Amino acid sequence: MIEINLKKLSGHDKSATVGKILVSENQRIKAGDILFNAESGKGNVKVKSEYDGTILKVLIKEGEEVKIGDAIFQIHGEKSSVNAENAKTEKKSSYSFGIAKPKKEDVQCDIAIIGGGPGGYVAAIRAAQLGAKVTLIEKDRLGGTCLNYGCIPTKSFVKSAHLLDEIKHAEQFGILVDEPKADMAKIVDRKDEVVSTLVGGIQYLLESWNIKYINGEARLEGEAIVVKNKKVDATIQAKNIILAVGSTAVKLNIPGADLEKVLTNKDILELKEIPESLTIIGGGIIGMEFAFIFNALGSQVTVIEYMDTTLCTLDDDIIEVIQLECDQRNIKYFCSAKAGSILETDSGKLITEFEKDEKRQYTIGDYVLMSVGRRANLDSVELEALNIELNERKNGIKVNNQMRTTNNKFYAIGDVTNIIQLAHVASHQGIVAVENILGQNIEMKYEAIPSAVFVSPEIGTVGISEKEASEKNLNIKIGKFPFAANGKALTLGSPEGFVKVIADSESDVILGAAVVGPNATDMIATFTFLIENQVTFDKLSHTVFAHPTTAESIHEALLSLKDGAIHFA
Ligand code: FAD
Repeated sequence: MIEINLKKLSGHDKSATVGKILVSENQRIKAGDILFNAESGKGNVKVKSEYDGTILKVLIKEGEEVKIGDAIFQIHGEKSSVNAENAKTEKKSSYSFGIAKPKKEDVQCDIAIIGGGPGGYVAAIRAAQLGAKVTLIEKDRLGGTCLNYGCIPTKSFVKSAHLLDEIKHAEQFGILVDEPKADMAKIVDRKDEVVSTLVGGIQYLLESWNIKYINGEARLEGEAIVVKNKKVDATIQAKNIILAVGSTAVKLNIPGADLEKVLTNKDILELKEIPESLTIIGGGIIGMEFAFIFNALGSQVTVIEYMDTTLCTLDDDIIEVIQLECDQRNIKYFCSAKAGSILETDSGKLITEFEKDEKRQYTIGDYVLMSVGRRANLDSVELEALNIELNERKNGIKVNNQMRTTNNKFYAIGDVTNIIQLAHVASHQGIVAVENILGQNIEMKYEAIPSAVFVSPEIGTVGISEKEASEKNLNIKIGKFPFAANGKALTLGSPEGFVKVIADSESDVILGAAVVGPNATDMIATFTFLIENQVTFDKLSHTVFAHPTTAESIHEALLSLKDGAIHFA
């Protein structure tokens, strides 16, 4: 048995994050085969074998940090005489022998952050910018759910799905293309590349800001943080600790939920084939994004939703646009429907049984995606012993608007607070927490938090919705402009949807907005600025918007609040 240690990375890099591992245990390898991708600030390096033989044990995990000298694989075999391409350029062997011992470390710092998602890593960078000595601990991969299993991978899939959709409709634009097809393995590979680049980028930023990064699971022993694994043995003492431990997908506790082909949002990102048919339990934002992705890639998609509509938090006029699109694309959905059990047939298909209109109904799919929400990782650290209380619903850590928990030394940010489970909320909460720790007096505000939904057409919302305004009995007026009357939308072949603005009837201050249609998720930023700054809509009547752009619809919707839009009666 030979133990292979890592010898070289890119340039002078001493450490990197393990990206995709391309070999598995018991696999035969030859000199020159790529063993894994290593991601560092300087870029991605493919680590190759100099040995012919069989992999006995993989000693690294994707997302883990590896340093020069770390043991990475155990193999049975011998160094190749016909050597690997990269070995020719090296004077000595790439690998040495022996197991690297965990390094004992006592770390003192101003701020320690547990969790390297968009909450934790942004907080770390902001704290370092303000001069604090920072330690960031992450047990999986830098970037957390957002970069590795959430926002970014799904949007990489969305791009592939849109592209296929556009090519299929190319004839309408005068472009003739032979039958296009999707290759799931390549879609997944591209997603992995995008994720690796971003994870490497964060690693680089942490190094640039001199942030100490420890890859391992943090435990709290009293008020000290302990990280112990085969590579690290660290005790961290910090003046303040930020808990940014995120959330995990939940599965419904129904018979069949643990069948292999019942997937979470994380599992589905690794599918190597496009399912002929896919059942999605849960028609919320994540479920519907996957419904549109797999429908465009060619799957027959059926959504089972417990509430009386999909995307139930949105206004009815937005839901109408999306449901019409579902009908046109043949995405089936059953609302007010309760999934009861999942059975596997002898041919490996999954039958999902659900109750609707007091009748038992069934749908069949190659896979089932369970997309029924995310639970805050409250078990990740020992909260009770530290007098860190939970919120009223007991589903998140209780924080004040400075992000401080009930224990003054501890702050909590992101999904673990369960206030709004979005990446940009986590990041901003991280900035607010750090600035307060470092002596500023900043409050987290939630009135102008935008939300982006990547279905077709896209949706962007911010501020108050019509539904909320009516629940709160607010006196509002609404301006609306359809994309069907916007020149740019027509050139794009995307006339569906509208821009809607909600303003206070008396003060004229803009309170909320929704955009459904082309570029909606980018366009919503304009409204975020207006709402955050409590602008009245009349201030914008003399603001000039470039032509031809979809953004002209923002202007038109604002004009329609007063004397009327120019291009729509
Ligand atoms: P996370 O990103 O979950 O990071 C927490 C980190 O803490 C994890 O990496 C975890 O490994 C680590 N950790 C936990 N316990 C420990 C411990 N004891 N020691 C060390 N490390 C620990 N949001 C958007 O804004 N836009 C989108 O388009 C979007 N799309 C999404 C799509 C999907 C499929 C999913 C699942 C989510 C999506 N989200 C989106 C939500 C977004 O991903 C989360 O809101 C965001 O990641 C929360 O950030 P966080 O830092 O709080 O937690």
